[in-house]
Amino acid sequence: MPRRTPQQYLDSLHDGRRVFYRGRRIEDVTGHPVMGVAARHAAIDYQMAEDAAYGDLAVVDGLSRYYAPPRTAEDLLARSRLIETQTRLGGTLVVLIKEIGTDALFALSILATEMDGRLGTSYHQRVQRFHRRCAEGDLALAVAQTDVKGDRALGPAEQAAQGYPDAYLRIVERRSDGIVVRGAKSHTSVSPNANEIIVLPTRAMGAADADYAVAFAIPVDAPGVTLIASPHGGSCAEKNPFEHPISARHKMMETLTVFDDVFVPQERVFLAGEWQFAGPLALTFVEFHRFTAISYKLPLVDALAGAALLLAEYNGIERAGHVRDKLAWLIAYAENLRALTETAARRCRVQAPGIAVPDPLTVNMAKLHFATNYHQAVARVQDIAGGLLVTYPAAEDLGSAELGPLVRKYLGGKLGVDAEDRLRALNLAADLTASDFGGYQEVLAIHAEGSIEAEKLTVLRNYNTAAAKAYAKGLAGIDSPEG
Ligand SMILES: Cc1cc2nc3c(=O)[nH]c(=O)nc-3n(C[C@H](O)[C@H](O)[C@H](O)COP(=O)(O)OP(=O)(O)OC[C@H]3O[C@@H](n4cnc5c(N)ncnc54)[C@H](O)[C@@H]3O)c2cc1C
Repeated sequence: MPRRTPQQYLDSLHDGRRVFYRGRRIEDVTGHPVMGVAARHAAIDYQMAEDAAYGDLAVVDGLSRYYAPPRTAEDLLARSRLIETQTRLGGTLVVLIKEIGTDALFALSILATEMDGRLGTSYHQRVQRFHRRCAEGDLALAVAQTDVKGDRALGPAEQAAQGYPDAYLRIVERRSDGIVVRGAKSHTSVSPNANEIIVLPTRAMGAADADYAVAFAIPVDAPGVTLIASPHGGSCAEKNPFEHPISARHKMMETLTVFDDVFVPQERVFLAGEWQFAGPLALTFVEFHRFTAISYKLPLVDALAGAALLLAEYNGIERAGHVRDKLAWLIAYAENLRALTETAARRCRVQAPGIAVPDPLTVNMAKLHFATNYHQAVARVQDIAGGLLVTYPAAEDLGSAELGPLVRKYLGGKLGVDAEDRLRALNLAADLTASDFGGYQEVLAIHAEGSIEAEKLTVLRNYNTAAAKAYAKGLAGIDSPEG
């Protein structure tokens, strides 16, 4: 089965997985009023692959492009365009059922090659076999990297010594045919509507943490796996597309993903105790994943700029100095992100076994630029839009024979701007910035794909500080003959 239809994908989610929502087990995630929205959002990936309009952007050699390891800067640019285009179809919300999983597969492939070379293991063959299985089965993947972590100031073994051994996921039993794992990962996106979960370590480890240095893949319905879904954004079930043009139709689910003594067959184990490789694996995944992130943020920043431009026009303020200042800022914010995303691809380096890795310095500059300015971008859109963002009348008022004419009379913008059009633009801005979806995007900006501090660290680590200091010394006349 080289590629699946949207319906085949949705049908594949009926496999007895243990998913809970608000304390209740959900037997059919596709039929659930909230999870169904997320499953149909994810199906966009399969719709896009079927659509001839996207041609070889979505499909390469009969398989989803997501599964094609990037070999060159051009491949990375094509992957970025695919992610951007698909997110655009998803109404600014990333689809993610192949993006994050293939980020993990590429990182696993690089680290497995390195481990095999240094330790004489045979991880790369395993990773390749699993990769092929996912590509040929056209599977949907979640990645569970972030551990629950407990006391952030302490590492896994340190917390074990204090009586909390399960702050990080760990190996509790090693068998000849596989391993048994226990622990929980938090914030796992798309897991209720994925086929497989790839588990990665979340941080660097020391020798004492060897049991926590673990990576593997497991089907979502594996015995012992429990998904406790977050109710955040659950109001999508009651939303109408007039008031919430994005979040009535698009949603991603996150879960607390519990591994209660889950058996993982040897063939699916990609790291089991090689603690020296936990940090590099975590980091390599994150570099791919932040490139995915900056690619999927592009429709969101475009939508913020577009909504602000539209509302400035509808409100008759597009020539005001302070408004032009804010619009220019929003456009530069979006286009700086796009330029950095392209540069990150062009500055890639190819690592064994022949995978192009986006430039970590540029990727993290882009992510930092996006994340640290996001709330300011939101503030500018809200400023231009006005208070109707949270005081708008309902779709039912506009549709009412009695109230509709009043709404249309009083809520138009400048002359010639229809009230319904203006309300639609306002509702878009409200959904992006003032709804539960807007709040989700704000938290996502700060935390998803790693913290802002982690991005700063990577920028510091990857900049050629020695060359910059030497240049400054030269200019200052320090340690030079003429100084
Ligand atoms: C919507 C959403 C979707 C996500 N999807 C996924 C997913 O699919 N898979 C996945 O694995 N993860 C996912 N994540 C997790 C994401 O990567 C984490 O949220 C992020 O790494 C931060 O971790 P945390 O939430 O535990 O916060 P924390 O790590 O607790 O961070 C909170 C604050 O503490 C600081 N901090 C933490 N540790 C230290 C320390 N040792 N010293 C000093 N300061 C510290 C941080 O810098 C930050 O300021 C998702 C997150 C969100 C919000």
